[in-house]
Amino acid sequence: MTEKPHLTEIRRLPAARRARLTWSDGHTAEFDYDYLRGYCPCAGCQGHAVGPVVFQPPPAPVEPASIAPVGNYAISFAWTDGHATGIYRFDYLREICPCDGCRGAREEAGGEQESDTSGQVSEGREDS
Ligand SMILES: [Zn+2]
Ligand SMILES: [Zn+2]
Repeated sequence: MTEKPHLTEIRRLPAARRARLTWSDGHTAEFDYDYLRGYCPCAGCQGHAVGPVVFQPPPAPVEPASIAPVGNYAISFAWTDGHATGIYRFDYLREICPCDGCRGAREEAGGEQESDTSGQVSEGREDS
């Protein structure tokens, strides 16, 4: 059983309005505050539909008023718009990771089909 990477650091970058997250496997990525807020996974934001979390752009820019650990598997943000019920699991944050590497990996996994390379037949002719 391999352990899932957990967050080891959350650093606020107020000037950029981002949070830099670092995982235990060394992965680092910067998340826009609005991006995180828009991907709030709570039922209030997402409804009770089963399925992938949908990005809900916040009506106004937000910032985290506070960030708190939840157990050893997630963090929660209290946003400046008063919303604070979202629990962001470490693996969920990794799923929505906006960095180029993760984006590319997701797109590759998203059903790009490999085309068959047709076998090459070489014809030889012998004149004797
Ligand atoms: Zn929410
Ligand atoms: Zn990433």
